[in-house]
Amino acid sequence: MPNRKRHFGSDNYAGICPEAWKSLEEANQGHCPGYGDDEWTAKAADLIRETFETDCEVFFVFNGTAANSLSLASLCQSYHSILCHETAHVESDECGAPEFFSNGTKVLLVSGANGKVTPDGIEQMVKKRSDVHYPKPRAVSLTQATELGTVYTPDELKTIWSRCRGLGLKIHMDGARFANAVASLGVKPKEITWQSGVDILSFGGTKNGTHVGDAVVFFNRELAKEFDYRCKQAGQLASKMRFMSAPWVGMLKDGAWLRHAAHANEMARSLHEELVKIPEVRILFPRQANAVFAELPPAVVHAMWQRGWKFYTFIGQGGCRLMCAWDTQLEDVVDFVSDLKTTIRETPQNAPVPTGDHRTMK
Ligand SMILES: *Cc1c(COP(=O)(O)O)cnc(C)c1O
Repeated sequence: MPNRKRHFGSDNYAGICPEAWKSLEEANQGHCPGYGDDEWTAKAADLIRETFETDCEVFFVFNGTAANSLSLASLCQSYHSILCHETAHVESDECGAPEFFSNGTKVLLVSGANGKVTPDGIEQMVKKRSDVHYPKPRAVSLTQATELGTVYTPDELKTIWSRCRGLGLKIHMDGARFANAVASLGVKPKEITWQSGVDILSFGGTKNGTHVGDAVVFFNRELAKEFDYRCKQAGQLASKMRFMSAPWVGMLKDGAWLRHAAHANEMARSLHEELVKIPEVRILFPRQANAVFAELPPAVVHAMWQRGWKFYTFIGQGGCRLMCAWDTQLEDVVDFVSDLKTTIRETPQNAPVPTGDHRTMK
């Protein structure tokens, strides 16, 4: 099997970007206080405040699951519920961590086209019941960019916010790919966060080029009260914190975070542009960030895996997610498309599809 340098499996297949790597190296000089009481962590938090143009509270945790579940736990009591889209990472990819860390808060699922919840979907779920037997809706979790590679526009977010306000719901944003959304929309980070009613953001760094460590950003500072204890209890307070925060300094100080995200989006745009020309390929959702979702004949999917390409199918048979990363190159797109065309030509229409070989990891 050919050993390829890069795949379309996930943006977390990519390594560490040079800016993050350089900061890590710089942080690796001499001694420095532990547990976040260091200048790298202070600087990274300041840069996040500058990025969002507001005085938010910032915490660094190991990954997105921790960022999401601890954020949601800080919003909810155990008898509350959290509304999110049925494809949300919070629901389907966190092994119940949001419920676990909030001591049983229930996640309620809302449907909606292209991976997005709608104000009506939210309201219906909230108004379905109002009695004491129903877990009281308390928060909405929005994924930006969504699990299906689309983005919420500022207008959509503001409409959701106004409905949420009326319903007494707080807003959490799962921003594992927040940078890709900002780059895609060409907006200021504040426009799609606190200016659109977001109380807490899980700000993803890993998929955009750091080695580990996502930030929890509280625009609603009240909610950050005692969050440090929650992090520590959950095993999320890094002893050598500087190695989680320093890469953020490298990423944010001269805009590398947005350049990398814009690049990944651009690679997905190129891939999409080529795929739409192939009649056997059906695009499943609008391409708005760094992923292309496409349906390919199932036998072709298996043949592409045989050729050594790695990518996931988790939206039914043949539904593929092709994810671009900060280091995806145009030559990767060209190689993939060329292999795909060859594979389609060489795979008979009725070729048998191996069973039990679904690759559904994120
Ligand atoms: C990757 C991802 C996360 C974070 O996952 P971890 O593996 O815990 O870092 C959260 N939300 C979404 C939408 C993701 O794609």
